[in-house]
Amino acid sequence: MTQIRLRNSKSRKEEDFTPIDPQNVRIYLCGPTVYDRAHLGNARPVVVIDMLYRLLRHVYGTDHVTYVRNFTDVDDKINATALARKETGAEGTLEDLIRQRTEETIGWYHADMDALGALRPDHEPRATDYIGAMIAMIEDLITKGHAYAKEGHVLFRVRSYQAYGALSGRSVDDMIAGARVEVAPFKEDPMDFVLWKPSDAGLPGWDSPWGKGRPGWHIECSAMSYELLGASFDIHAGGIDLQFPHHENEIAQSCCAHPEAGFARYWLHNEMLQVEGKKMSKSLGNFFTVRDLLDQGIPGEVIRFVFLQTHYAKPMDWTAEKATQAGATLRKWYKIAAQGVDNASKPYVAVISALANDLNTAEAIAQCHQLAHADDVSTLRATLQFLGLMGTDIPAWAATPDVDLSALADKLAALRATAMETKDFAPVDALKSALVAAGVEVRMSKAGVELVPGSGFDAAKLEGL
Ligand code: AMP
Ligand code: ZN
Repeated sequence: MTQIRLRNSKSRKEEDFTPIDPQNVRIYLCGPTVYDRAHLGNARPVVVIDMLYRLLRHVYGTDHVTYVRNFTDVDDKINATALARKETGAEGTLEDLIRQRTEETIGWYHADMDALGALRPDHEPRATDYIGAMIAMIEDLITKGHAYAKEGHVLFRVRSYQAYGALSGRSVDDMIAGARVEVAPFKEDPMDFVLWKPSDAGLPGWDSPWGKGRPGWHIECSAMSYELLGASFDIHAGGIDLQFPHHENEIAQSCCAHPEAGFARYWLHNEMLQVEGKKMSKSLGNFFTVRDLLDQGIPGEVIRFVFLQTHYAKPMDWTAEKATQAGATLRKWYKIAAQGVDNASKPYVAVISALANDLNTAEAIAQCHQLAHADDVSTLRATLQFLGLMGTDIPAWAATPDVDLSALADKLAALRATAMETKDFAPVDALKSALVAAGVEVRMSKAGVELVPGSGFDAAKLEGL
C-alpha cells in the first residue's frame, strides 16, 4: 500500500500518515460562510483537499473515506444581506430572506466548485441543522468547568485548557499581547471566547438554557465534526488564516468536551492565494470570484491546473499568464489523451508517489509532462481523470472541431508559391489574417501549410475565404 506522508501543522513535522481506521479514513475541512460568491482564495483549500480526498480514496478505497465540509449559515454578514433586501422591499420574513440567501449562495458554491473538478464531500452539514448538538456540547463544557454563562453569553475559559496555543506554537500571554482580544464585562479573562451569544432583537435566534441566542463560529465545527466523524478523526484542514484563533479554539472545545479522544490527529493548512503580496480577501477588497474567471471564459480545468502547479504550503499568485500557459498545456495533453481508449488504465505511479509525498502537486504536474512526452496515451488519460483535470471525456472547450481545412491550406500554400515569384505577399497576409480572425492556428513551414482550429474557432468566419 502507498505510504502517504503529510506535514502535520500540529507537530510541525512531516509524518507517515496512519489512519485510525483504514476502513473509514475521516477528514474535515472548514467550509465557507454562505453570504456571497466564493473568491478565488476560498477555492484553494477546496482544490487542495479535493486532491487529498482523491489520493486517500485511491489508496484506501473509494468507500473507505469520509469527507465532511460544513456550511456556516448563521452569521452577521448573512443577516446583513437579508436585511438589505428587506429594506429594498423584498417579500417574505427576515427568516425567509436569510434562507433564500444561504440557499442561493450554496447553489453558487456548488456550481463553482464543481467547475473546478472538486468532488462533493460525503457530508455538507449546515450549522443551523446542528444547533441542538452545539447546545449539548456547550452544556457539557460548563459542567466540566471549561465554560461559564454570564449575561446571556457563554464563554470558553481559555486558562482552563493547559494546551491552549499548542497548534500555533504561542503561549496565552503572547496571544493576549499580539491579538485584538475583546475586553467585555461578561468575560472573566480577555482571552475567553464566545460559545453562545444573545441574538439582537429581530434577528434569528434559538432557544437555549441561556436565553434566545445563537452559537459562536468555533463551536459549529467542533459540534459538526463530532456528530459526523466522532471525537477523534484523522485529518482536519483549512487555510493557515484559520489556525489562530479558529482552529486553536476548536481544539480547546473538542479536547475539553472529549478528553479521552484526541480530536484531529493531523492538521493540514494551505497557504494563501495572494494579490501583490497580500492575502486575497473580501475585507481588503482585492478579490475576484471564481465565477468572474469562469465568465471570462477561463475553464475550470485551467484554474485547477494553476492551483496544482504550486505546493499547498506555499503562497501563490494568480496571473493571466499562468492561465494562458495552463490552457495551452492542457490542450496539448487532451489531444494526446483523446487517443487513449483503454478504460482499465491506472493513474501513473509516479504521480501517486508525488502526491503521497505531502501532496506534491507541482511534481505530479511535472510527471504528467513526462507522460505526455512518452506518448503513453491511456495512462495520461487515466492520470488526468484522477487529478480532476478531465471527466469521462475531453472538456468541450478543448475538443478540436471536426472540420476539413485542407482546401484552405492548399489555397494558402498556392498563394505563397505565387508570392515567392511576384514578391507580393499581401494576398498571403490577407488570407492568413482572416484565418487567425476565425480562430485558426496557421503553421507555415518549408514542409507546407498546416491549419488547426484553435480555442476561439468560428466556422462562420471562414465563409467566403
Ligand atoms: P472564510 O469564508 O473566510 O472562512 O474562508 C473559507 C476558506 O477559505 C477557509 O478555509 C480559509 O482559510 C480559506 N481562504 C480564505 N482566503 C484565502 C486565500 N486568500 N487563500 C487561500 N485560502 C483562503
Ligand atoms: Zn472550522
